[in-house]
Amino acid sequence: MTEVVLDAVNKVYPDGFHAVRDLTLRVPDGELFVLLGPSGCGKSTVLRMVAGLEEITSGSLWLSGRLANHLPPRDRDLAMVFQNGALYPHRNVRGNISFPLEVAGENAADSHERIIELSRALGIEETLNRLPSTLSGGQRQRVAMGRALIRQPGIFLMDEPLSNLDAGLRTELRMEIGALVRSVGVTTLYVTHDQTEALTLADRVAILRRGILQDVGTPQQVYDDPATTFTAAFLSAPPINLVRASVRADQNDGVRLGIGGQELHMPWSDPRATALVSRHGSSVTLGIRADALRPDPDGQISGRVRALEFHGHEWLAHVEAGVALVDTEAFRDDEPQQTGQEGEPGLLRRFLRTTGIVAEEAP
Ligand code: ATP
Repeated sequence: MTEVVLDAVNKVYPDGFHAVRDLTLRVPDGELFVLLGPSGCGKSTVLRMVAGLEEITSGSLWLSGRLANHLPPRDRDLAMVFQNGALYPHRNVRGNISFPLEVAGENAADSHERIIELSRALGIEETLNRLPSTLSGGQRQRVAMGRALIRQPGIFLMDEPLSNLDAGLRTELRMEIGALVRSVGVTTLYVTHDQTEALTLADRVAILRRGILQDVGTPQQVYDDPATTFTAAFLSAPPINLVRASVRADQNDGVRLGIGGQELHMPWSDPRATALVSRHGSSVTLGIRADALRPDPDGQISGRVRALEFHGHEWLAHVEAGVALVDTEAFRDDEPQQTGQEGEPGLLRRFLRTTGIVAEEAP
């Protein structure tokens, strides 16, 4: 049972830079937990504090119920893989994977089966006798993972392990990492700045910004119900629409949202209306993802199309309607209809029906 708990952890670097602020997280045994955030937000600092490579300024780190702030790295029962899983160049793949066993005084011959089994799971069984210089980048990362996992650590830390690989390989290895760490059952902390990687890989994901935790939950929870506009925006491609709206609640009627001079009506049967009641008379910021909008002849908000982009499986329309962006997937079989002169932006004949609104108190 290996649980990682951070309780109000802070990191202030010697130059006074406050890199991590009051971070509290609990990663239960066997979970694949992803730390996500833009460059410089403090993800690697968190990982390095867990690893014991960076001192914790204040707060507590608990590993399986044991206070670990001052525990030497070697006593933390963990293994780590970095961006460039540096291998020993003069050792072949087998020698690289078995290295930690040798250091621990284990007889490599006794672990023959384990090495074979792990290299098979990693898809590098055929390369066991080769030197690192003869391997592809993806194979090298697999060997680095093999070396990290061979001693069956309680905690597996990965810092952007895929960022030096090309897009195709990243997708492939991403799926394999997920399958591998779940089959091994090791508690894993995985750092990335890549939203897709985080959402596809994680059991749960934490989003950091400037050293401050923004959100934590399953990928579905943070995507569908982001706690902050930062999370909403960071997880969205194309960018989420952040739209100011006035709220008017009426006992008989439901909630009416004023958006750019138009009105969106939500009857009481819509659970989002209930959530907005307390904001009656004030303004909120709505986060509306482009993929939550559809052109709809019975919709309530109309807009003027400023530009259309073809995205292969869908069209993306930039619509001026208070709501700035509209995903026009429906147009795939149903050409965008515009009025006006050819080449000029025209009025979208259809109307927009909104779904998936996220409401947040206006700042
Ligand atoms: P990236 O994805 O770019 O690696 P990150 O989210 O992992 O970013 P960290 O490496 O944890 O970020 O760095 C967080 C902040 O702390 C950055 O602003 C960085 O410049 C700063 N920082 C890191 N190491 C030190 C140090 N030794 N002294 C002072 N500041 C540091």
